[in-house]
Amino acid sequence: MAKILNASDLRSHLGGLIERTDYIQTNYKSRTTDEMVYRKTWKWAFKDQFMGAIFGEPSIRTRWSFTTAFERLGGKVVSSFGPGSTSSEKGESLYDMIMTASQMVEFLVIRQSEHLSTVDLSKVNCHIINAGDGNNEHPTQALLDAYTIWREFKRFEDLKILIIGDLRQSRAIHSLLRLLCNGNKFYLYDLRGCPDAGGWETPNSEMLEGINRKELLPEVDVVYLNRAQLERHKGEVNDFTFGLPEDLKYLSEKAIIMNPGPRREEMYRLADEDPRCRYWQQVENGMYIRMALFHNILWE
Ligand code: ASP
Repeated sequence: MAKILNASDLRSHLGGLIERTDYIQTNYKSRTTDEMVYRKTWKWAFKDQFMGAIFGEPSIRTRWSFTTAFERLGGKVVSSFGPGSTSSEKGESLYDMIMTASQMVEFLVIRQSEHLSTVDLSKVNCHIINAGDGNNEHPTQALLDAYTIWREFKRFEDLKILIIGDLRQSRAIHSLLRLLCNGNKFYLYDLRGCPDAGGWETPNSEMLEGINRKELLPEVDVVYLNRAQLERHKGEVNDFTFGLPEDLKYLSEKAIIMNPGPRREEMYRLADEDPRCRYWQQVENGMYIRMALFHNILWE
């Protein structure tokens, strides 16, 4: 049974997943004979499969992405959404909730504030995918982010990635750092002015106290923004917005701007027209890479 809890669990599968996603994304909308044969095979394989989606924390992108991915493959979805929708309100433990769900579904996609590493999953008899466990990790977000980067640069090494966000609290940032930690240079800027990333740094990352736009922006390949996670702390946040005309002027023509969403003040809305922005593609890519992930779990 697959247990996808952290981005490190995915590192060795990244190449295969990217290849499969690329195939699905390129062919999904086409109706070639090959594609239809392939689609029939997977629809046959998924027709008796159920995915349970338990989302105890807010979600629209991730929840819909998993759901549309699974249903496009031909599977069925049952879901619980929102704090009152599970028996945790009645005091049920996360372990019991997972064990209960696993009696009924083949795949369980779960988001809640507790870290999944605190739960013993050894007796759980279904595939589990972490869809965000509090301020810890969000491995499939990192997958879709990596795929978005790969579509642009066709490599996962020697990239210069500027991350601007809530470094200690953002699970999207944590998983991206874990997935791409080898061979890439990360520049880290914390929206709360924290002096470090709380242990999520990589061997090749550099904390920035400020952003010297003129020097740094022409150098970087990716600017990755993520909002301050205000639901997790009451701390002060730096007055920071990226994407002002000056930023776009200094940023290299070949660079891309990413944001896992939802966006807040960290991103200047008028920059949406800039051809280097990739956040809507990230959303679309997320669905295809989740299709590939389900596909690989079932077949491998
Ligand atoms: N959607 C991402 C997450 O669930 C990023 C965010 O909420 O800031 O972690």
